Amino acid sequence: MIQPTRIRSLNQAPVNGAARYVLYWMGLSQRAIFNPALEHAVDEANARGLPVLVCYGIAEGFPEVNARHWTFLLEGLAEVRPELERRGIAFVTRRAPPVETALLYAADAALVVCDRNYLKPVRAFYADFAARAPCRVVQVEGDVVVPVETASPKHEIAARTLRPKVYRLLADYLVGLDERTVAHRATDLRFENTLDLSDVPRLVASLNTDQGVRPVRRFTGGTAQAEARLKHYLGAPFAHYASVRGRPEAGAASHMSPYLHFGQVSPIAIALAVQASTTGDADDRAAYIEELVVRRELAMNHIFYEPRYDDLAAVPDWARKTLDAHRADQRPFLYEPEQFEQGLTHDIYWNAAMTEMRETGYMHNHMRMYWGKKIVEWSASPEAAWETALRLNNRYFIDGRDANSFTNVGWLFGLHDRPWGPRPVYGNVRSMGAPSLKKFDADGYVREVERLAAVERGESP
Ligand SMILES: Cc1cc2nc3c(=O)[nH]c(=O)nc-3n(C[C@H](O)[C@H](O)[C@H](O)COP(=O)(O)OP(=O)(O)OC[C@H]3O[C@@H](n4cnc5c(N)ncnc54)[C@H](O)[C@@H]3O)c2cc1C
Repeated sequence: MIQPTRIRSLNQAPVNGAARYVLYWMGLSQRAIFNPALEHAVDEANARGLPVLVCYGIAEGFPEVNARHWTFLLEGLAEVRPELERRGIAFVTRRAPPVETALLYAADAALVVCDRNYLKPVRAFYADFAARAPCRVVQVEGDVVVPVETASPKHEIAARTLRPKVYRLLADYLVGLDERTVAHRATDLRFENTLDLSDVPRLVASLNTDQGVRPVRRFTGGTAQAEARLKHYLGAPFAHYASVRGRPEAGAASHMSPYLHFGQVSPIAIALAVQASTTGDADDRAAYIEELVVRRELAMNHIFYEPRYDDLAAVPDWARKTLDAHRADQRPFLYEPEQFEQGLTHDIYWNAAMTEMRETGYMHNHMRMYWGKKIVEWSASPEAAWETALRLNNRYFIDGRDANSFTNVGWLFGLHDRPWGPRPVYGNVRSMGAPSLKKFDADGYVREVERLAAVERGESP
């Protein structure tokens, strides 16, 4: 089922009555399975006696995207084509900017269906496109469980204020999505693909992008990978999620965030699988839904309602004031951004976290908190800390540049939190110190990161 609240028109242009197809301009939802925008395009096409064309144009040169991100994205995209072809849907991929690509194919479309994305540059893409498109543009929200404005009409101050609103709506939104039968197969639609997905490493090497951040062996992109990981995860590691999810070495994290970030898996599909799982108990299921739905969608709420989400100005007044009041406090250690980036601090646990991020593109949530809080403590100013944390986060994590990136970096500085007892440097912003490393096997974590980094270097199987 596609709830009406997921669908909205972005312009008032008429539906083109002399069209060749319904166009789905794929953006965030980079998958052929459990994709409401795709299924909506099929509904529209079936009703008009038309086939469906899906197009994708790459935003080469998009800020902060590098070879690691492109590899993961393009691996996923390569999987989409056979899935669409199996259903009789045409797919054209272009090495051209997304808006230009969509405009090219919109000329012969009855209407265009597109995805939703709350990041500022992507919102600008859609506004630009809707103003220039020759036909109706319809946007479908497929990457959150409850659409942001439906969950709440305002900026929420914390998980506790969003949680009851989301829970009230959960039963209506955590429902399956039927794959439609395509009534009119796209057998006569032939277009030139200028983005050749047959050799992803070669394609990535040819892109105008930061080649300095290497692809990783730890993660391969694509819906099939996401599904296989989820199946394995729910088969055993998920058990005890509620009690051990804070322990990086416990293996209780699902590693779904890279796949969610690139829309290669639906959060609803994950949530339904978790709810149906018998591996964990009710506490485990509730704890996972809390992270996947409440926390993740709190981040969406934040970047939708707070236009300054990529700036320190987005954290609450009390937090900015207290950080400012402690600006002159002596730092116990002081590092330059390059020292952070290379993992050259005095702290072997922090350095291991940085290595995990830099070499493998991922870090467990508990270490992300420790990593970020220490950047706040060991940087020359709150502004320098913000800049370092956000830049490293978005450069190295495969799931970087996400609503979760901006919101969780904001959390380091007091966003969605409350004042705590005062500490040097942090003031009343929550601090994190050595005791947080005593809650798990931190030395085991360091050893595991060494192993993972060796695998990335090709030194061990
Ligand atoms: C400083 C800092 C930076 C972060 N940067 C990012 C980022 O760039 N991209 C990103 O996706 N997440 C980020 N997070 C949130 C969180 O750490 C990751 O989503 C999580 O570790 C991903 O691993 P997983 O999928 O194995 O998590 P699991 O524990 O298996 O959780 C399942 C899903 O729930 C969601 N989730 C889990 N924890 C959080 C959280 N704290 N906030 C919001 N959603 C959550 C994610 O979608 C995750 O995939 C950051 C957290 C901190 C403290």
